Amino acid sequence: MLRPNMNYAQLKDSYLFFNIAQKIRAYSQAHPGVKLYRMGIGDVTLPLCPAVTEALHKAADDQAAAASFHGYMPECGAPFLRKAIAEHYKARGIQLSEEEVFVSSGASDELGDILDLFDSSNSALITEPAYPAYVDANVIEGREIVHLAGSMENGFLPMPDESCKADLIYLCSPNNPTGAVFSRAQLKEWVDLANRNGSVILFDAAYEAFIEDPSLPRSIFEIEGARTCAIEICSLSKTAGFTGTRLGYTVIPKDLVRLGMSFNDMWVRNRTTKTNGVSYILQRAGEAVFTPLGQQQVMENIRYYKNNAKVLTQALDTAGAWYCGGKNSPYIWMKCPDGMGSWEFFDYLLNEIQVIGTPGEGFGSCGEGYFRFSTFASFEDTKTAAKRLSDLL
Ligand code: PLP
Repeated sequence: MLRPNMNYAQLKDSYLFFNIAQKIRAYSQAHPGVKLYRMGIGDVTLPLCPAVTEALHKAADDQAAAASFHGYMPECGAPFLRKAIAEHYKARGIQLSEEEVFVSSGASDELGDILDLFDSSNSALITEPAYPAYVDANVIEGREIVHLAGSMENGFLPMPDESCKADLIYLCSPNNPTGAVFSRAQLKEWVDLANRNGSVILFDAAYEAFIEDPSLPRSIFEIEGARTCAIEICSLSKTAGFTGTRLGYTVIPKDLVRLGMSFNDMWVRNRTTKTNGVSYILQRAGEAVFTPLGQQQVMENIRYYKNNAKVLTQALDTAGAWYCGGKNSPYIWMKCPDGMGSWEFFDYLLNEIQVIGTPGEGFGSCGEGYFRFSTFASFEDTKTAAKRLSDLL
């Protein structure tokens, strides 16, 4: 008899955004016409920058003429985009060959698909609070999960000790939801541990472009020893507003080998089996992000979100709240006041000042008692929400 993958029965209901939507709906029905200030959204709001939309238009025109038309694209990415990404790393002092860069349809796809490279008997260590897809993707494969909790004491940057043994290690820096960023010394500890134990680090760098402090690493490959123990998963979603356009990239060094198996070779085999490449038009748009003009324009958008972060963190400073993030990240992670629980604080803000955030409990049990604000709303809404927050708290 056909057996479904029974691991799906082990998945916890994804109630976080569902619950939030229900609570908002109930509030809006009871208070028609009352404006809500959505500081919880994890999606960008600014449009694509002109360099990208020009490239999209031009690439669409290419597809309209036989001489410039492209059919199937190479499964691992168009050479022009792999080169542009490798050069982007090179400008930051990281040497990669183009064959170490794989173009993807976004980080979410890769975070799930990359698990094809590892046996399901491997264990996965997840530093929490965490982006929920890490846990769910491993539950689907029946993998043992080791949870490592962040806390106020460790600045939500949990570090390993010698008892910390796992085959796969998930690190996300800048972190969603906490906005915390690992220092070079901290990442070096993780890299050394992984090399000692033969583990592989899955480094989620979806928010690297938000790092402004030059002393903080934007890539795991800035750390000596990472080429033998890490895979980096990146996305243009938050860097360049591609959440609805879809493009990302994954770096798998050729030096990453276990039991004689090269993960780079395995990923080539995986992609050539399971994909037919990413659309030519989107890859040209991605290429535009890495031009000097594209970089200048995407950084302007990031500065807009960072200005929102400044306004929100100033309000939290005025209120004397404890928080991390907000400086090198689009997320601010705040301790709920007066021992309130995450959902209690959610209701309090919604009912009292019509400000919406995300309850920290939705990102793992150690997130209970904390709350995430994002900085992707409009400046006007952010300003009003910040004023209301500092008056209330
Ligand atoms: N990783 C983290 C930490 C995220 O927060 C997100 C999206 O919010 C993703 C990955 C997924 O990004 P993408 O839009 O490229 O699938």
